[in-house]
Amino acid sequence: MAEEPIRLSSDVGTLPGIGPRSRPHFVHLGIATVGDLIKHLPLRYARHLDESSIRDADQLVPMQDGAKSQGVIAVRGEIAALRAPPGPQRGGRSRIEATLEDDSGRVRLVWFNAPWLKQKLHPGSRGLAQGEAKRFHGYLEMINPKWTPLEEDEAPSAVTAALRPVYPASEDLSSQKIEKAVAAILDSAVPLIVDALPEPIRHARGLLPLGESYRRMHRPSSEAEAKEARHRLAYDELFLLQLGVMLKRWHLRTTASATALAMSATIDERIRRRLPFTLTPDQSRVCAEIAKDLGQTTPMNRLLQGDVGSGKTAVAAYAMLTAAAHGAQAALLAPTEILAEQHVTNLRAMLASSDVRIELFTGGRKTKERAAALERLAAGEVDLAIGTHALLAEGVHFKNLAVVVIDEQHRFGVAQRAVLRERSSRREGEKAQSPHVLVMTATPIPRTLALTVFGDLDVSTIRHGPPGRSPVTTKWVPPQAAGEVYRWLAPKLAAGERAFIVVPAIDPQGPDTEMVLADVQTHLEMLSRGPLAGHRLAAMHGRLPAAERDEVMGRFRRGELDAIVATTVIEVGVDVPEATVMIVEHAERFGLAQLHQLRGRVGRGSQPGTCILIGEAVTDEAQRRLQALVDTTDGFRVAEMDLEIRGPGELVGARQSGLPPFRVADLMADLDLLRLARQDASELVAGDPALTRPEHQLIRKKLLHSYGEALGLADVG
Ligand code: ADP
Ligand code: MG
Repeated sequence: MAEEPIRLSSDVGTLPGIGPRSRPHFVHLGIATVGDLIKHLPLRYARHLDESSIRDADQLVPMQDGAKSQGVIAVRGEIAALRAPPGPQRGGRSRIEATLEDDSGRVRLVWFNAPWLKQKLHPGSRGLAQGEAKRFHGYLEMINPKWTPLEEDEAPSAVTAALRPVYPASEDLSSQKIEKAVAAILDSAVPLIVDALPEPIRHARGLLPLGESYRRMHRPSSEAEAKEARHRLAYDELFLLQLGVMLKRWHLRTTASATALAMSATIDERIRRRLPFTLTPDQSRVCAEIAKDLGQTTPMNRLLQGDVGSGKTAVAAYAMLTAAAHGAQAALLAPTEILAEQHVTNLRAMLASSDVRIELFTGGRKTKERAAALERLAAGEVDLAIGTHALLAEGVHFKNLAVVVIDEQHRFGVAQRAVLRERSSRREGEKAQSPHVLVMTATPIPRTLALTVFGDLDVSTIRHGPPGRSPVTTKWVPPQAAGEVYRWLAPKLAAGERAFIVVPAIDPQGPDTEMVLADVQTHLEMLSRGPLAGHRLAAMHGRLPAAERDEVMGRFRRGELDAIVATTVIEVGVDVPEATVMIVEHAERFGLAQLHQLRGRVGRGSQPGTCILIGEAVTDEAQRRLQALVDTTDGFRVAEMDLEIRGPGELVGARQSGLPPFRVADLMADLDLLRLARQDASELVAGDPALTRPEHQLIRKKLLHSYGEALGLADVG
């Protein structure tokens, strides 16, 4: 029987050497087909030696002094002792001496003039010494052996001194087994790999063909070869994402149309009069940028970034009121109910004497109320719809939605943005009607993300917040000092100041939890019986009914409460200018960006704010996080430090973006490559915006397959 020809879609179970027992182990690692196997790339490479040349130390050499081993042999073991006197020794040569131990005995390793080895050798490190051994004064000795460090239980095997791939493996499936499986199919599979990258781009950028890249990734003859292959694969990932972003941007601009909301001096003046303060120069500039966008029939797609407390809400109000001025609807999407409720309260106050109709949409509302509100929304009897993601739900219809604002964008994903746009779009003749979209974030977006996930957005920035702010002082104290903190707080509350006290848990923890965390109720009771007795305290967390939360926030705002003991539900957006003190218990448990947000709840009025982080530096990272907050109040700097501390793997927003993660590309390290890919993608889209040319069919298919859903590209082509 002739063997089935191999295909990329062939099941790994049909490959020689992979039986029904090992197949599930492959599948577990995401390898179901030959194509998956080819895409399962090595993490790194190691140089290994021929197993057959490895000896036990006691078998190396005959016992007589001066006896030599037969040729080059290898011993595998652990460094038991190390002597590396600094500087040159007698005869001007530096000398390093180590004792290598295996199960059978010991060999002395001596290196002359190899000072760089000092960094590689430590007592306890494992490795392979390769050279000629001899007896010297009864000791076994190797002079200037070749040293190859080995992982804990890494076994050197097969091929000699070649670069060997080290694959992501599992307990059941070793890297070696994966290597064997790849080796068995690589040569027949590589010719089957279709390169979707348009040839002119590949040429212009001097990139390897795709199949060749995979071959070299799995079986490089040098590190440089592997690097070149990696470069090509990283380019592919970046190019594909950029192509998606560019296409979406182009598509939106040309196929969707928005209601043009022309700004006039009269409207501008009327809106400004409604605001409780004069806009700062930065706010004014951003409003002008927005007004210009709103005046077009191309839908606005703008990102507003500005630190916590910089005054983004007023800008949002400006955009929404522009819609209302034209008799169109606007929606404001907030990440939490509390924030949505606050926006409603503020807008109602601002618009009290106007006929603008405001409606709150949250998951917490009663079904009947909700149904009635939805009806009003669909009938156009609501001008400003404020809500949480409940506004994204199926069954929410607007009559003529013209402006959408998404507050604290980092809490939403790109996909959600797409959903909202889709929900609010209507088809009208040739073009889809889409609202103008403004997304706001207090978390400055790193350059890399600005180019990728948010690559389709125009960006406005508020750099300077409203004047008259006193900066917030941040202190970090250990848990033992908590009592002192509250004793310091009590007289302040008595003098009319207001405080937030944040704890990590809502409910008391069971007695079996290893660390007792402060919870809202227990902490509140402890404080009101102890250091804050006689002061008016209330609890706040996400599980309270909306009405109760409203009531608590209202009392706090009016000064009928002195302090709120809360979870991080108050983290985002909550604005009570009279609050001056923020105390965070177990601060080490919160992220840097989160703590910065919490701190942003105070120092919003004319009174100076204080933020006290009560926390223990349980890890090095926690220590750096807490210290970073003490060191700076600048949100852009905080975001940078956050990146430095957490590393690129956790890029703000990338995780929530809903985009498939890169396998090869590294957004931090490959920034230059990203720029090239962006340029190439932009040129390609400019020349063939719907990707209809025959030579672009492969890349189009690949794009829709990879990013179609995440980027909402379903309608492309
Ligand atoms: P964020 O950018 O964090 O959303 P907010 O919009 O909540 O900031 O504004 C923070 C505080 O600054 C609020 O109390 C707001 O009323 C006040 N504020 C905003 N703009 C101005 C301004 N131009 N003049 C005075 N106060 C302002
Ligand atoms: Mg805000």
